[in-house]
Amino acid sequence: SVPAAIAASLSAGARQGLLLKGGVVIEAAAKTGTVAFDKTGTLTEGTPRVTEVVALGRSDREVVELAAAVETGSSHPLAQAIIARAEAHLIPVRPATEAAAIAGQGVTGQLDGVAIFVGAPRHATSRATFDATAKAAVEQLESDGKTVAAVIADGVLAGLIALRDEPRADAAAAVAELKALGVRSVMLTGDNARTGAAIAGALGMDHKAELMPDDKVAAIRELSAQAPVMMVGDGINDAPALAAAGIGVAMGSGTDVALETADGAVLKSRVRDIAAMIRLARATMSNIR
Ligand code: ADP
Ligand code: MG
Repeated sequence: SVPAAIAASLSAGARQGLLLKGGVVIEAAAKTGTVAFDKTGTLTEGTPRVTEVVALGRSDREVVELAAAVETGSSHPLAQAIIARAEAHLIPVRPATEAAAIAGQGVTGQLDGVAIFVGAPRHATSRATFDATAKAAVEQLESDGKTVAAVIADGVLAGLIALRDEPRADAAAAVAELKALGVRSVMLTGDNARTGAAIAGALGMDHKAELMPDDKVAAIRELSAQAPVMMVGDGINDAPALAAAGIGVAMGSGTDVALETADGAVLKSRVRDIAAMIRLARATMSNIR
């Protein structure tokens, strides 16, 4: 019977760590035309590391010290990476006062009476002058798939910190498997356009960059007008985008919380499981027809 076939697929999926909430979700998953992936922590490891520091107005050490001070007030993955860099180089991490996050842009705060901003270069150019050398350095680093944090002290560009968040080992293979299934993959990111293009290009997928949290919902709506969309994200930050998609799949957390907001989940942080989920859904639907 149909209910028995669906129940069998749901439990076969669950044994492989692929959770789908029910028959309606299986049916929708089988029709997926586009998978929209959140970048950070979904397509990538989510643990960026500092690759280089470019000293401009101040020394390397000062750039890292100023940045680490304001990042103590942030829970962003970039913040942890910058603090780790300071610790690794035995640079004292003193918390900034008045530390505040500016969503989608960066962080601000004060250290020893110096007003500091650390964040995306595109949001930093209104706060300090970027000369030709600084602009060229930003472009080069971003074209290498790195995220650049500009460090501004009292309205002067002190330096740049480049960070790289490596794609998961199976991400490119997952995109190729989806393509073989006739499914388009699109990366959604708040990161800048050049970094987004570099990483998406390496993975063989499309992308939409410089998205503020609300823009991810708009991007899902736009994609949904072309083909049924499955959105894959961490299930916590991406809850609105997961809800906006035909199907929202949480990756890697495996918690009940994620499944409350999502229609499905992959319990291991394997991007290829998304292709496996679509194959399972399609096989189920063709069995019951
Ligand atoms: P995402 O997590 O997709 O990168 P966010 O909305 O969290 O998107 O942030 C957008 C951009 O703002 C980041 O790519 C980064 O350039 C900058 N940013 C945000 N928070 C910080 C931070 N704490 N330190 C440095 N840069 C930050
Ligand atoms: Mg984010």
